[in-house]
Amino acid sequence: MKDSILVINCGSSSLKFAILANAGQQTLVEGIADRLGSTESSISFKFEGTKTEIALSDGSHKSAVNQIKEWLSTQPQIEASLAGIGHRVVHGGETFSESVLINKAVIDGIKDCARFAPLHNPAHTKGIEVAFELFPGLPQAAVFDTAFHQTLDKEQFLYPIPMSLYREHHFRKYGFHGTSYRYISKHLAEIYKESINEGVLVAHLGNGASVCAINNGKASDTSMGITPLEGLMMGTRSGSLDPSLLSFISEAENISPEEALSILNKKSGLLGVSEISNDCRTLEEAMTSGDSKAKLALDMFASRTAKHLVSAATTLDSIDHLVFTGGIGENSSYIRSTICKYLKAFNIEIDNTLNDTAPRGEVFEISANGHKTKVWIIPTNEELMIALDTINLIQDKP
Ligand code: ADP
Repeated sequence: MKDSILVINCGSSSLKFAILANAGQQTLVEGIADRLGSTESSISFKFEGTKTEIALSDGSHKSAVNQIKEWLSTQPQIEASLAGIGHRVVHGGETFSESVLINKAVIDGIKDCARFAPLHNPAHTKGIEVAFELFPGLPQAAVFDTAFHQTLDKEQFLYPIPMSLYREHHFRKYGFHGTSYRYISKHLAEIYKESINEGVLVAHLGNGASVCAINNGKASDTSMGITPLEGLMMGTRSGSLDPSLLSFISEAENISPEEALSILNKKSGLLGVSEISNDCRTLEEAMTSGDSKAKLALDMFASRTAKHLVSAATTLDSIDHLVFTGGIGENSSYIRSTICKYLKAFNIEIDNTLNDTAPRGEVFEISANGHKTKVWIIPTNEELMIALDTINLIQDKP
């Protein structure tokens, strides 16, 4: 039966992929092509517990997808089960409010949104075009990080700037991590049915980090903006700050505004404050060995996350659930407990023993007894969401 989906997340220098079978429940093979565009590029395949790595002839995206095709020819059963390809696309602008089957108009639409995601969208269209060339018979779908946030009200998505800038240039908040939030909302409703009619706050904390408020299953606010720089402090991104800083930095350091912006994107956040690393786990180890800058960076990260959660919560009728997800949200008990300390005034508390002993990779409730807001750890699964959307779109195809 044809029920496997090849999920592709194509970046400018990497291409992650996975083949999911059985309505997305089973990952048959997964891997990553790294250092694309260089002579040292290679692609890895993780299959039945074994990892193999193959050098890529010319380091192109096409050679990476071609290797996937060649690998499939050695696995005829999997090849025969392939029903379609699902692509992760970072920016769908105001054009795409849900996942779509890809045709020429969709590719043009993704290209149109590239000015807001100049590193990501051109890489996505390259991945899509190469996949059409190498898998001509397979339907392909695009799943957008921004789509889930298209339900935000104007009060939330508009910036308080001259409205002509929105009308003429579409400068507004878009939000990201939408596929993760959609998965969390859906999964929470599977384990706690009433949540679909309640107020849910989600903190997706990874190297990139954001929060989202979900009211009755629909996004009502989120912290990232026109690009993923706004909002929380992140691994290397500053998050929100006084925009005047951009010209102060550029003048003080005698650099262009673009270079100043690059400092806010690539040298700030956990890395900038700790002066050690952007990686939460490394910083926790440094903090345990007594490094005060590592502790300051982690505490600032937690404090800023708490503030954005409270801000997003203003769009909810009540805060019934708080969900932690992403590499940091799922794994760092220190960050979870520090965020919740900042949320005491909002009557959100966790059980410290449950928080410290939460099993890895599982859904787990860590709320303290007697508090209205249920606090959860839910591992996210964006690949599953992309596979399910692709299956549904293929089935609905007229
Ligand atoms: P992204 O997808 O945005 O690149 P991830 O969701 O994979 O990021 O999260 C990466 C972050 O998760 C890193 O900062 C990493 O240190 C952190 N992380 C992963 N495991 C742990 C752990 N056991 N304890 C603390 N932090 C962790």
